[in-house]
Parts: sequence; structure tokens; C-alpha cells
Amino acid sequence: MQNDFAILFEPVQIGPVVAPNRFYQVPHCNGMGHRMPRSLAAMRATKAAGGWGVVCTEEVEIHHSSDVAPYNEGRLWDDGDIPALAIMAEAVHRHGALAGIELVYSGANGSNLFSRATALAPRPMALISGSGFEPGQARRADREDLRALRRWHRAAALRAKRAGFDIVYCYAGHGLSLPMHMLSRRFNDRTDEYGGSLANRARLLRELIEDTKEAVGDSCAVAVRLAVDELLGDDGITHHDEGRAIVELLAELPDLWDVNVSDWSNDSATSRFAKEGYQEPYIATVKSLTSKPVVGVGRYTTPEAMAAAVRRGLVDLVGAARPSIADPFLPEKIRAGRVEDIRECVGCNICVSADSKLVPIRCTQNPTMGEEWRRGWHPEQIAPRKSDAEVLVVGGGPAGLECARALGQRGYRVALAEARREPGGRVLREARLPGLAEWRRVIDWRLTQIGKLANVELFPGSPMRAADILEAGYAHVFVATGATWRRDGVGRGQWRPIAGHGQAHVLTPDDIMDGRAPAGRVLVYDNDHFYMGGVLAERLARQGCHVTLATPAPLVSYWAQYTLEQERIQRQLLGLGVALAPQHTLLAIGAAGAELADASSGRAVDLDCDAVVLVTDRLPNDALYHELRPALADRRLRSLRLIGDAAAPHIIAQAVFAGHLAAREFEEPAADETPFRVERALLA
Ligand code: ADP
Ligand code: SF4
Repeated sequence: MQNDFAILFEPVQIGPVVAPNRFYQVPHCNGMGHRMPRSLAAMRATKAAGGWGVVCTEEVEIHHSSDVAPYNEGRLWDDGDIPALAIMAEAVHRHGALAGIELVYSGANGSNLFSRATALAPRPMALISGSGFEPGQARRADREDLRALRRWHRAAALRAKRAGFDIVYCYAGHGLSLPMHMLSRRFNDRTDEYGGSLANRARLLRELIEDTKEAVGDSCAVAVRLAVDELLGDDGITHHDEGRAIVELLAELPDLWDVNVSDWSNDSATSRFAKEGYQEPYIATVKSLTSKPVVGVGRYTTPEAMAAAVRRGLVDLVGAARPSIADPFLPEKIRAGRVEDIRECVGCNICVSADSKLVPIRCTQNPTMGEEWRRGWHPEQIAPRKSDAEVLVVGGGPAGLECARALGQRGYRVALAEARREPGGRVLREARLPGLAEWRRVIDWRLTQIGKLANVELFPGSPMRAADILEAGYAHVFVATGATWRRDGVGRGQWRPIAGHGQAHVLTPDDIMDGRAPAGRVLVYDNDHFYMGGVLAERLARQGCHVTLATPAPLVSYWAQYTLEQERIQRQLLGLGVALAPQHTLLAIGAAGAELADASSGRAVDLDCDAVVLVTDRLPNDALYHELRPALADRRLRSLRLIGDAAAPHIIAQAVFAGHLAAREFEEPAADETPFRVERALLA
């Protein structure tokens, strides 16, 4: 271990339990929840195996009247839910880590779509769950309701203890729970003993902490997760005012303070908008207000920043969700002095999108995330090679890099040929766009690993033709040649080329990334809907263009809602003077203007512009693959596989996954059956 980081491996007393080190996986959702308990247990166990001293659940519903369906979170409604959570606690314990559980009563943040129960809130108020625009309201909780809620929370704490958990949370974070709604002046207008003064608004949280301590405090630590700042100014809790005051008020009651900013989009800010340690200013004073240990987050991926946060007295335990997703073995790598092997989170929030989309968690950097149980994948281990076969991977983008790396890890001899002088493919180019610099870590980690593998040889500046490949005598070829943005505007809902697309002032994202710089009035037409349209609009606006961002979607960068970025992107673009035209379809491009249609009214809209950037579909670069296909038929090639964007253009996470999957499946028998295990309800 490097002595510099020894501080991170000190044990920390948390009430009646001891964390073996300072690496603390804070609660994080994962899209599996109560529906996929085996997948969940295996994923959490992998983190414990990788050295995280504490591994927590996601939010766990304590009662059917606090139901966040359709989201897949944890559930502890009654004894029937204990076994599913117990397998997680047991799996975590097997590796010497503590297991934490975040008990939540969602209140107005639970639509109760499943249970159909009436939600409770400080006052009668609209549900604030799900899309944020759900019909229905929550009922004002009266004293009897709050007494009942305390009973439910206490019962859940006892069940959590029976399930084997060591740390039990009272949750007042992210704006997602009734105790937090009670704290908030926005929601709490009560005149009883639960309203008015801060002490009154904090009464429910205090009672829950006291109840939990009384119920399980003999053997379990009681933690509080508190949002110390909502980043809403005077409308919300702020760290210098009530955030601080709440901690002062309850300072010595819990065994652990887990503090962060709210809401979730602020807590899990992407690298486009926030850098490592971004929560430090908000949590800086908490430790001075309590003698209890403090955990905080801030997408810490480097041991230097982690150790500094401890040394400077900011936190006792380094909290992490995303860094532990991108690299479940991060602590172990620091311990072993292998810091350069850390697979650093790139801050893209694809992990978050899985929860929003109700599917098992995935990660751009770590293709094994979420696959631990169903495919038996381990982030650090892979099956050894089956033969002495030599392999050629063509294309050094995320798919090709990951495929070559993982094949190399298996022990195969691999040649990786990349046409450009510098490998990295789309990531190399996209990481140069505003705010996306950290995405380069996708390349950097893979190049570092490949550099350590004597059996993988990288050939940059090597454009490969089919004839070259066959002449060189490779028997096994993976084609990862990427994709090209379409020039004709064909895309979702627009199957005909857009009239006027062939003119010199009509550009694609590839052109911009290759250095073409339009000037004057620029229309960016986004029929892609994730980050590219918004990022290009930002870049061009920063270069002095007068930019209009038009899209057929109801919001610009529509899909970025699922990575918690849409509102920020929109605000940023407006701040840069970009004109936004949602619900507009591009019909035709003229010499000095464009014709759009307002999608809601069908009215034609003319826009003067000097250049148009089409962010529409992409075309897979699969010509090489098709040229090689005949060689497979006549056995000059023994295997040939098309992967990543060259097969079907998608997000970077999918390219990395495709490369990894191809490497794992190489020389394995192909099966027609579902290639992974599925958690199914057992019918007695
Ligand atoms: P993916 O996301 O699927 O990895 P990328 O577009 O990021 O796709 O990367 C594809 C890479 O393949 C690019 O770096 C490109 O330069 C390279 N490439 C494309 N065709 C060839 C070829 N014939 N020989 C070598 N490299 C190629
Ligand atoms: Fe980090 Fe992106 Fe992986 Fe999430 S998906 S852990 S943000 S690299």
C-alpha cells in the first residue's frame, strides 16, 4: 500500500459497529431492487469483495403506503420481504464489509401506483413523484398517521436487523421522503407541533432516529441521510442556514451523518457540470457540528482527493456511488498500490438512466456492472483463452479497445489496428467537445491496461482493407469500425432525405469534430435527442455563432432527462443565447435559410441561417465486414464478428458492452437460448 493513502484504510467506529476502512458505498438505486434480489446481492457483494468497507442498499420502502412503483427500489413492507434483503446482507458480510439499509417513507414522492394507498404529506399537495407531472395529490398526515408511520418505521428497522443489516438509515435526503418534506418550508405549513419552528419541522426526523435507536441501536448503527442544501436558495434548505441548524439540533442523536446536496440531479451531477469533490463547500462545516462520523460524496475517483477530504477534516468516510459502480475494486487497487488500474467513473450517468428506465444498472466504464449474477461476470476476472488463436481487432474506438483488452486479459494474442494516428474513435473526438473531457477516461483506462498486456499489440495509423487482413493471414477478426453521421437528415420519423441536404453549408457532427467551424447564424437540428445536439449548440454558441437548436422532441436533449441533465443543458443553452425550438421538424434547407414545421400546429416556420448541422441518424461503417464475409464462407477466416457502432450505432456504454461481450463469447459455443439467467417468480 502507498503510505500516502494509509489513512483510507483505517477502521471507523460507527455506533456499535466498526467499518473496516473509510470506503463507503452510499445508498444508490440500480433498477433491480426488490424485483431482482439475486442480481442485487451479487452486485453489492462484488463491491464488498473489491474492498468497500460499507455497502448499502438503495432506498427501501418500509410500507405499502410508500410505494414508488414502477421504479424498482428495495422493499421491506412485511416479513415476506426479509429473505430477499437478507441474501444481500449475507453476501456483503461474506467479504468482511458492513451492510447498510436506507429505509424510506416516500410520502408525496410515492405515487402508490401499485398499492393504490393514499400518500401522506405535511399538507394536502400534488404528488411530486415519477415524471413530476403525475395526477393526484397526497393527504395531510394527521397525528395518528404520524404515530402509525413511526410504528411502521420501527417495525422496518427491526426487520432490517433480522435481515442482517449493520447500519439502518433514517432518510431525509434528495427531497424524496416525508421526513424531508416535513423539514421543508415549501411543503410544511402546519401549525401543530410538527410545523412552524425548525425544531418542530425536524420533530418527525428526531422521533424516527430515537425510535430506530431504541429498536435496533444496541447492535445496529443508526445513520441519517440529510440534504444539507437543496440549491434552491431561500426557497430551500441551505447549508449555511437550516441545513446547518438541523445538524446542530440533532447532532449527537444518530451514529452517522451521511450528508449531501439535493435533489438527485444536484447530488449526481454529471462531469459535464461538476467536477470531483463538488459537494465539499456544502458539507464542509458538518463535522464541526457533531462528534459523530460523517460521510460525504462528490464523485471521488482519485485516492489523492479521497485522502485529502479525510485529512482536511471534511469527512470520516469517503462516500461513493458512481465511483463504486465504475470500479467495484477501487479500494483494493489503492490498497495494492495499483492506482493506475482504477477504472475511473466518467460522470455520464448512464447508470442513473437504467434506474429511470426500470432496467438493471449498466455503466459506460464497467461493462460487467449489473451482469454479476445473470451472466456471472466479474469486473476483474475473465475466463482464460480456449486456444492459441491469434485475433485481429479492427478499429480502436470504445468497442475495439474493450474487445482487444478483454481478449488480451483472456490470454489471446491480439493485434489492434486503428486507422487514425491516435486510438479512441468517437470518444477521442467527443471528449474534445465542451464539458465532455472526462469521457476520455474510457480510452485512457483501456490503453493503460493494453499497455500492460504483452500479448496485445496496438497498431495506430493502420487503416485495414479486407485484402490486407486476408493477406496477413488472420483467422479471427472483430470489426469495430464505428459509424458516420448521416448527411441527408434521415432519422427518427423522417425517412426521406431532407431537401437541400447536399449543400456545402450543411454539416454533420463529424464535420464539426473534424474542425469545420461554421459562422454566423447556425441551425442545429437534433433528431438524436441525447447529448450531441446540445453539446454542438453549446460549442458553436461559445465560438460566437447565433445558434438555434431545433428538435422534433418536446424538449431539447430530451433523453438527457434520464441522465438528470436535461434541465441544466436547457438552462445553459439559454444562458449562452441559444434559441430553442422544440417540437420543430426540419423540412427543407435553402441557400440562406431553412423551412421547419411546428409539430403541434403544423404551421411552416422559416428561419434565416448561414449553416445547418444535422444531428440525425448514423450509418454503420460496415463495408469492411461485408467485404470479409465471403472469406468466412470459404474458410479463409474462421470467425468474423461485427461489434459496436459498426453493427448498430448507439451510446458509448453499448459499444463498450459489445466489445466486452464479444471477447467473453469468443470460442464459446453459441446458444439459441437466453444467454443469461432471469429472475422469475417461483410458483409454488
Ligand atoms: P465504436 O464506438 O463502435 O468503438 P468508433 O467510431 O468509436 O466505434 O471507433 C471506430 C474506430 O475504427 C475509429 O477510430 C476508426 O478510425 C477506426 N476504423 C474505421 N475503419 C477502420 C479500418 N478499416 N481500419 C482500421 N481502423 C478503422
Ligand atoms: Fe460513472 Fe457513467 Fe459508469 Fe455511472 S455509468 S458509474 S456515471 S462511468
